[in-house]
Amino acid sequence: MPVIRACSHCGKQNRVPAKFLASAGRCGFCKSPLPPLAEPLAVDDQLFDEIVQNSPVPVLVDFWAGWCRPCVAAAPEVARTAADMAGKAIVVKVDTEKYPQVAGRFQVSSIPNFVVLYRGLTVMQQPGLVDHNEMESWLKSAPPV
Ligand SMILES: [Zn+2]
Repeated sequence: MPVIRACSHCGKQNRVPAKFLASAGRCGFCKSPLPPLAEPLAVDDQLFDEIVQNSPVPVLVDFWAGWCRPCVAAAPEVARTAADMAGKAIVVKVDTEKYPQVAGRFQVSSIPNFVVLYRGLTVMQQPGLVDHNEMESWLKSAPPV
């Protein structure tokens, strides 16, 4: 299941396989550069597995919910992390209301809850609000690509 990404030049929808989300590519229509994913990606349970299992770079997972104020406060930090770590990591967001089964697999009991995975394995997990510097340090200390 590829991720649909719009080309910033021609606006056409490109289908990008999960394993290439952190890579620089080219738009299939106008051949403009399609930069690595630089923003958090909202995923469902299927796409979650696809990315976690195929990503060649570490993946930061933000387990959140709309009613959770600290999650809302964390959102800009998560977005900043995705921008700063573009090409070196992938950041995904799991809505625990919509996809409780994914949260259950990680025994998420309080949110926000952050998990770093590398090659399908959990590197670290920590609940609570933190800033982007801390999130980025988790990703940088994950095993090298
Ligand atoms: Zn294009």
